[in-house]
Amino acid sequence: MSREQQAVAGARRAFQTGRSRCLEHRVRQLKNLQRLLTECRGDIAGAMKKDLRKSEVVVQMYETLGLEEEIALAVRKLKEWAAPRPVEKNLLTVSDAVYVQAEPLGVVLIIGAWNYPWAVTLQPLIGAIAAGNAAVIKPSEVCVHTAKLMDELLPLYLDTELYPVVTGGVPETQELLRQRFDHIFYTGSGAVGKLIMAAAAQHLTPVTLELGGKSPCYIDSDCDIAVACRRVAWGKFTNCGQTCIAPDYVLCQPAAQQRLIQELHKAIKEFYTDDPKTCPDYGRIINRRHFRRIVSMMEDSTVAVGGDNDEEDCFIAPTVLRDVKPDAKVMQEEIFGPLLPIVTVDGLDEAIRFINRGEKPLALYVFSHDAKVIQKMREETSSGGLLANDCLVHYSVNSLPFGGVGNSGMGCYHGKHTFDRLSHLRACLIKTLKMEGMNNMRYPPHTAGKLGW
Ligand code: NAD
Repeated sequence: MSREQQAVAGARRAFQTGRSRCLEHRVRQLKNLQRLLTECRGDIAGAMKKDLRKSEVVVQMYETLGLEEEIALAVRKLKEWAAPRPVEKNLLTVSDAVYVQAEPLGVVLIIGAWNYPWAVTLQPLIGAIAAGNAAVIKPSEVCVHTAKLMDELLPLYLDTELYPVVTGGVPETQELLRQRFDHIFYTGSGAVGKLIMAAAAQHLTPVTLELGGKSPCYIDSDCDIAVACRRVAWGKFTNCGQTCIAPDYVLCQPAAQQRLIQELHKAIKEFYTDDPKTCPDYGRIINRRHFRRIVSMMEDSTVAVGGDNDEEDCFIAPTVLRDVKPDAKVMQEEIFGPLLPIVTVDGLDEAIRFINRGEKPLALYVFSHDAKVIQKMREETSSGGLLANDCLVHYSVNSLPFGGVGNSGMGCYHGKHTFDRLSHLRACLIKTLKMEGMNNMRYPPHTAGKLGW
């Protein structure tokens, strides 16, 4: 048996003991995970510094605090989420118990990405534990130090049979994918998402695919451009643009472009100084392969701000590209790096047509003082999430379902949505054997008299 097969078989055996279903067990495991995040804060920050040059504050702000909130919510609400949910009855069932009962699915495979490795790997795990499942955890091998740390730490805090960690790259993930799971929760690129779905189909395993894509950002001329640019610069250059919901490109009217460039430049200097390379709040590109991919995207566009880079250090400065043509390299795929192309359009209608020519994005941003502009954008486009006059923050609202639509993914999570996603919502109808007389009309022979016709 391979290591992957052993992990899955062990998790299945442990699930079959029934201990993951026990609410006290779930709460204990969630609290252990909370302890891990608190007690190992320094180790987590150290690994993230090595992988992405993230500072400790950034790791807390963008990953661990959100996870702690998710754990606290699940612990507080678990009883309520796991309780039977009564539903409306019809005439035939007025005296019966009719409800939905969330039950665990079984063994969930969680495949994480590298950009916010703790958030995208542990957040589904929190839901998997809360919903009473076993889970096999596969961190991304791309964030080398973090994957190693997860492999070391998780078994120290969690039930190792129920929640084993499997490390490795493509061959190991493919070996895992040959096994049978009850759900696969994948975060990463669409190209791999297709492989995941094809593998899952062999066992009719349901999947959640948290993918990415080009998230547009329309900045209306009628808005506070200075404020909009600070928010966009923050949303774009956080983690060097390696954020699934980063605004990928900006759409604006030609007359607004110069002002936008000035304000973006100002915000970049304010956030990351004149020398982002030495700024502790500015990170690095994950590896040289991604560095080269991103740098080559600039080739046929005009740099308005930034543009400098250093392959040795995987550094690319916060960069704004101007007058970018729709057929430029940077507009052909998700950038996932610190380049912000500006594409000019005639106005809102053209912006909407432009957005609708692309795949449905994970996030869509619109900046305007005018509620009608926001409403029109919402009504005439589709995306995983829509955020007006800010960037990224919808991710932190755990009552909002987070996920994509179309090419940006399928299925959503966060808060109770994760619990429901990783549960089977079982339809339950409990009758008594009394009042049999009420059923006479449904039994043959079907005579008009019996039905009172
Ligand atoms: P990645 O390279 O780390 O891949 C993700 C996972 O897929 C890893 O665990 C890896 O081992 C596995 N994998 C890679 N190739 C595989 C193959 N051929 N067969 C089986 N498994 C394989 O991450 P990535 O794909 O570079 O991640 C970036 C993408 O993820 C971007 O598109 C980004 O937008 C998206 N993303 C989405 C979210 C979200 O919540 N929707 C969050 C983070 C990242």
